[in-house]
Amino acid sequence: MNEKANEETLAEQLEASPEKNAASEKTLAEQAPSSFECRSCGYVYEPAKGDNQNKISPGTLFEDLPETWRCPVCSVPRSQFIDIGAVGAPSGFAENLDYGLGVNRLTPNQKNLLIFGALGLGFLFFLSLYGLG
Ligand SMILES: [Zn+2]
Repeated sequence: MNEKANEETLAEQLEASPEKNAASEKTLAEQAPSSFECRSCGYVYEPAKGDNQNKISPGTLFEDLPETWRCPVCSVPRSQFIDIGAVGAPSGFAENLDYGLGVNRLTPNQKNLLIFGALGLGFLFFLSLYGLG
């Protein structure tokens, strides 16, 4: 009974917010480009901050860094950096996430539920086979 109610609520949210989601996601991509972390030393390149030491001006995307750019801390090449997603997004943004991207947050949970639900069912089935045997 509760599950059904949840599904209906979710369906309503999905219908109500696609446009808003699209807008929020676009804004997210524009305002919070991915940061990259140095696998060697843990230094994080934040596009919003740039890199003073290498004269990279704030707002420079990692993808736009010169090929010769190296980690300002340990001097490894760009290839040693990994994309860690948006970091240090403006604080107002976290609040927007709660409103505009609520459905997006539910989706991974739903996937987990499906996965674990399937696993659980499989496990019960497995057990029942033993019980019958
Ligand atoms: Zn480094």
